[in-house]
Amino acid sequence: MLLISQKTYKNVVNLLVSPKFEQGGIIGTKNGVISFFELDITPSVCSPRSYSPNCKMLEKTIEIWREYNIIFAGIVHSHHQNIEPSSEDIYYMRQIISTNNLSQILLGIVLTPKKTLTLYSVTKNNVIKQDTRITNREVF
Ligand SMILES: [Zn+2]
Repeated sequence: MLLISQKTYKNVVNLLVSPKFEQGGIIGTKNGVISFFELDITPSVCSPRSYSPNCKMLEKTIEIWREYNIIFAGIVHSHHQNIEPSSEDIYYMRQIISTNNLSQILLGIVLTPKKTLTLYSVTKNNVIKQDTRITNREVF
């Protein structure tokens, strides 16, 4: 089971709202709770059909977070019609896994019309939908 702070959950579903483009950002974990979100504001990587993370922004954020003991947990982005990851989504997540030597990464999908966030754990061989709970516990 995954824990996400209420504040972060609200941030994610309220910031990824564009009806025209798939938008995205990065989530981070501290003390076992997903409690950080950084919006990827680079317009060049937004497209109506798919979102791929801005690698420079990703690397920079991971580096800064490390100083604050925030662990990079994964990438979230918006969909307009369904919560299933596309094959491109999984492809990008596996690229990040191998580039950063990770065993797994979280892939979050915000369904914009409903403002819900669904999280998947992506490994080299699997994509597993995660049971996610929202917690009021704030992590600083
Ligand atoms: Zn997608």
